[in-house]
Amino acid sequence: MLKGKVAIITGGTRGIGLETVRAFKENNAEVIIFGSREETVNRAIMELEDEGYKVSGYYPNLNNYAEIESTIKNIIKKFNHIDILVNNAGISANKKIEETKSEDFAKIMNLNVNAIFNVSKSVIPYMKKNKGGVILNTSSMVSIYGQPSGVGYPASKFAVNGITKSLARELAPFNIRVNAVAPGVTKTDMVAALPEEQIAPLIQSIPLGRIGEPRDIANAFLFLASDMASYITGDILSVDGAARS
Ligand code: NAD
Repeated sequence: MLKGKVAIITGGTRGIGLETVRAFKENNAEVIIFGSREETVNRAIMELEDEGYKVSGYYPNLNNYAEIESTIKNIIKKFNHIDILVNNAGISANKKIEETKSEDFAKIMNLNVNAIFNVSKSVIPYMKKNKGGVILNTSSMVSIYGQPSGVGYPASKFAVNGITKSLARELAPFNIRVNAVAPGVTKTDMVAALPEEQIAPLIQSIPLGRIGEPRDIANAFLFLASDMASYITGDILSVDGAARS
């Protein structure tokens, strides 16, 4: 589905991002992962190599525009074009507002929102030059209903939806599609570590009766990245088993 395409996946070292790397590699894309540290990027590269997949990796500071710009230039030198960008790196929060410092709020916005601006802005000129591309963002089901604590997280994901819908309209004339996937509770390290007594009521609240697997989300990214989604842009695709509140 992605033969000949070059894709960057931020937060590609574990969880949803890593599974998306696998789905893209199975479909013959060239994949470059961005992670936060050299050590985790190298570990993911080795893990993927053991599975038979060859990927490249970088660890630019996603809040440093100049650093991202020079990384993107290096990638273009090596691969000539960038066709797909998946802005997936993100952190969450769950503290009540009284326990949340303004620095905590800023930290979430810096990674979940500002980093999407920085990486997208660096890649878009090359997509325009190449007469097309796909930008995909990781939103969340909390971007629809909010959540009862950890206000920075839903705030950031509402912003992700705003970026998605607005860039979709701005970039449509350049044949660049922009969409987001809004996962529900998904079994990444964080969720897998929850005790059974927390998992059971969580599952009960999901109409499809199970927690999402990283592959459920990766498949949505794969579809939206492929030409099968050629007339879809500006959409926020919920992948949450109908757990919408
Ligand atoms: P995860 O913690 O397993 O992975 C997060 C990824 O982001 C890692 O690859 C990590 O290296 C990267 N990252 C973290 N801080 C970074 C930084 N400062 N700079 C660069 N990269 C950084 O989490 P996940 O569950 O796979 O989450 C991936 C995305 O999915 C996030 O945007 C998250 O908000 C979203 N999401 C997750 C769930 C869920 O239940 N797991 C639900 C909805 C949305």
